[in-house]
Amino acid sequence: ELFYRQLPKVELHAHLNGSVSVATMERLIARKPHLNIDHSMTAILKGQRRTLDECFQVFKVIHQLIDTEEDLLMVTKSVIREFAEDGVRYLELRSTPRADSKTGLTKRRYVESIIEAIRQCKEENVDTEVRFLVAVDRRNGAEVAMETVKLAEDYMLASDGLVVGVDLSGDPNVGHGKDFLPALQKARNCGLKLALHMSEVPSQKEESELLLTLPPDRIGHGTFLHPEVGGSQSLVDRVREKNIPLELCLTSNVKGQTVGSYQKHHFPYWYQLGHPCVLCTDDKGVFSTSLSMEYQLAAATFGLSREAVWTLSQQAIGCSFATDAVRQQLQQRWALLLPEVF
Ligand code: 5GP
Repeated sequence: ELFYRQLPKVELHAHLNGSVSVATMERLIARKPHLNIDHSMTAILKGQRRTLDECFQVFKVIHQLIDTEEDLLMVTKSVIREFAEDGVRYLELRSTPRADSKTGLTKRRYVESIIEAIRQCKEENVDTEVRFLVAVDRRNGAEVAMETVKLAEDYMLASDGLVVGVDLSGDPNVGHGKDFLPALQKARNCGLKLALHMSEVPSQKEESELLLTLPPDRIGHGTFLHPEVGGSQSLVDRVREKNIPLELCLTSNVKGQTVGSYQKHHFPYWYQLGHPCVLCTDDKGVFSTSLSMEYQLAAATFGLSREAVWTLSQQAIGCSFATDAVRQQLQQRWALLLPEVF
């Protein structure tokens, strides 16, 4: 619907390799026909669901298709343009640096390719402000996490403020939060913001308690934090005391089967408490969605008025890792657009 596309939006939880559109996938598949990959392997279409484990298999396939600097530059630019076309005016992309001995890709060149793509989009006047979070994949353990944080620190200083933070993601059933505390603490100490996946699966209660000692600047998903789903009141209290925004991804959680249905999503639990909630896509390519669709779904499912939807998108500005100056510019932009959207 037009209103949701015209609504200026902030996207704070988007994994680069999960955000690649069908059209871009087609180009990648055509470049690498020997891999014998087809679309059913890279996206979960409407009405389909997979277990979270199966979702992680999808990422493995996508990673085979995106394994050179050239791929990364092309893919990142396409993803940024697509978000801009969907009305996203501020975007935080996150991605896990990968090296590939076959193509000569290094983790440094990986990060540099993404930064270069962001710069090129800016030069080409793509209408969205983009920042980058360097992602730590839990599967790779504490040592790699520390290296990744060092990389993030280097590029925070060398990217004119494009690298703003660190993410903790990857299979939530692998490893434990405490393994990553030293690396995350280091990131925090050097001025990087922390966006951590937390309580994505039911067993992560203690881990979340531990991670909340940091505490993170934002929480990804937080599906099982609250007592109604086996979390605890003390976790909820801690998140509320520290006023830590939640990045909520409706379609991702439903298709990945950590949430039973849209109606059963935890969005209203937190929203009714007046807690900062930011709607996000997670992986718009893999889950075949867009941020305007997520706003529309939330509005339809939970009966939000257009005014409430506007306030929700505006409030997300304050949850971003942008500088005060950039946040102010975004606030002005929203104010200017208000009469056009309504
Ligand atoms: P990339 O970091 O390669 O750009 O994006 C894909 C990666 O993001 C996946 O391999 C995984 O580590 C992470 N990721 C994407 N979606 C999810 C999700 O829903 N949950 C978690 N925990 N990690 C995710």
